Amino acid sequence: MRHIAIIGSGPAGYYTAEAAQKKFGDDVRIDIIDRLPVPFGLIRFGVAPDHQSIKAVSARYEKVALSDNVRFVGNVSVGKDVSVDELQGLYDAVVLATGAPNDRQLDIPGGDLPGVIGSAAFVGWYNGHPDFADLNPPLDGRHAVVIGNGNVALDVARILSKTRAEFSGSDIVGHALDALEEAGTEEVTILGRRGPHQIAMTPKELGELGHLERATPRVDAEDLPDLGDDALLEPGMRKSVTHLREFAAIPESFRADKSVSINFDFFAAPMAIEGDGRVERIRVERTELDEQLRSFGTGETYTIDCSLVISCIGYQTPPIDGVPYEHGRGRFANVEGRILPGLYCVGWARRGPSGTIGTNRPDGYAVVELIAEDANNGAGRQGRAGLDALLDQRGVQVVKYSDWKKIEEAEIARARDGSPREKFVRIADMIAAGG
Ligand code: NAP
Repeated sequence: MRHIAIIGSGPAGYYTAEAAQKKFGDDVRIDIIDRLPVPFGLIRFGVAPDHQSIKAVSARYEKVALSDNVRFVGNVSVGKDVSVDELQGLYDAVVLATGAPNDRQLDIPGGDLPGVIGSAAFVGWYNGHPDFADLNPPLDGRHAVVIGNGNVALDVARILSKTRAEFSGSDIVGHALDALEEAGTEEVTILGRRGPHQIAMTPKELGELGHLERATPRVDAEDLPDLGDDALLEPGMRKSVTHLREFAAIPESFRADKSVSINFDFFAAPMAIEGDGRVERIRVERTELDEQLRSFGTGETYTIDCSLVISCIGYQTPPIDGVPYEHGRGRFANVEGRILPGLYCVGWARRGPSGTIGTNRPDGYAVVELIAEDANNGAGRQGRAGLDALLDQRGVQVVKYSDWKKIEEAEIARARDGSPREKFVRIADMIAAGG
C-alpha cells in the first residue's frame, strides 16, 4: 500500500489525487490536508463569485473527494500542527499543492498606507475567506485604482463596478454585496506599466467589461499601437486587443447613462502612494518600452486622487521551513515537480502563479509518474493512522469532508432562498453542526 499526503485542497491538489487514484487504483491511500476547514482552495476563495461556470469544476473534485481511498483532513496547518519532516516519515510521498496565496509586494513608498490592499486580501474578502473577514476595505471614495494588467485586475475592477442585481446567481458573500452596493465608486482606474500589446488579460474576461449595467470601459485611442501591428499577436491576445479597440471607440454619448467609468491607463507605473494617514492619491510615472519590451520611466509624473488602491501584481507561494525555495520566483525549488525523492510540488507552488485552472491537471499527472518512479512501494509507512495519532496527541480538531458538506448544504439552501451566502466558515460552527 502506498500512502500519499497532499498539502492543499485546491485544483492542483485534487488533480494530483485523481491522477494517483488512476495510477495506483486500490493500492493507494491519499490524505488531502488543508489549513482551512473547507476544501477547494482557489476555486472557492480565488475564482470570482460571478464566474460560476469556472467554479463548477469542483464537482469533478468532489468525485475524487468522495472515493474510499481519499480523505480530506481539514483544519490542519502544516508547519504548525504537523511538520513536513513528520509527514515525510509517515507517507511514501508528500506533495505540496499549497498554491500561491500571498501577494507579491508592491514595493513603493506609501505601499503600506491604510487603503492599499493586495488582491489576495480583497479577492479573499468578497469570496468569504476567513483570513479576511475583518478587511473592511474603504469603499466610500469615488475613485479606486487597480494596479496590474492581468486577469485578477479585471476581476477586481468588474466586482467594484457591478450593481447588486448583476451579482444575482453568483456566490458573493452577503457582507461584500452590501458594502459594494453602498460604495461611492464612480471611477476605477486600471494602471498598466506597459501597453495594450503587453496585457495579461484574456479575451473573455476583458469582453465582460463591455456589457456591464452601470459601468463602461474607457481606453485612450492614443495608447493603441497601429492596427496592422495586431497581426503579429497570437490569436487570443489579438482578440483581447480588439476588445480594447472597441472600448476606445465607445462614443461619449453612450457614457452619459453610465455612472461608473473603468479607465485603462497604459504606460503608467505606480511610483508612490500618498496621503495623511490613509490613501489620498497615487503618483504615477509615464513609461515607454525598450527593445525587450520592458518599461522604463520617462520622468513625466502625475497624480490620481483616490482613496483605495488594490495591487493585483501577482502572487507567491509562502515558504515552508526546511523546504528548498526559490525566492526570486516565489515558489518551491524543484525540477519538474520533484523537490527531492519523496517530496514534490504541483500547480502554482511548482510553476508560480500562471495559467488557468486546467493547467494544473497535467502537473498532477506528471508528478504521480515521478512518485511511481521514486516510491519504495509502501515500505511500511504508517500513513493516515500515524497522522491521526499525532494530531490526536496534539489536540488538533480535524474537519472531515462530511463535516464541510453540512455547511455547504446550508449555503446552498440560503442561495435557493435568494439570500447571499455567508461564507466565513468558522471552525466552531462546523463543530456545532455535528462535525
Ligand atoms: P498576472 O497575469 O501575472 O498579471 C500581473 C500583472 O501585474 C501584469 O500586468 C504585470 O505587468 C503587473 N505587475 C507586476 N509587477 C508590477 C509592478 N511592480 N508594478 C506594476 N505592475 C506590475 O497575474 P494575476 O492577474 O494575478 O493572475 C494570476 C494567474 O491567474 C494568471 O495566470 C491569470 O490568467 C489567472 N487568472 C485567471 C482568471 C480567469 O481565467 N478568469 C481570473 C483571475 C486570474 P508586467 O507584464 O509589466 O510584468
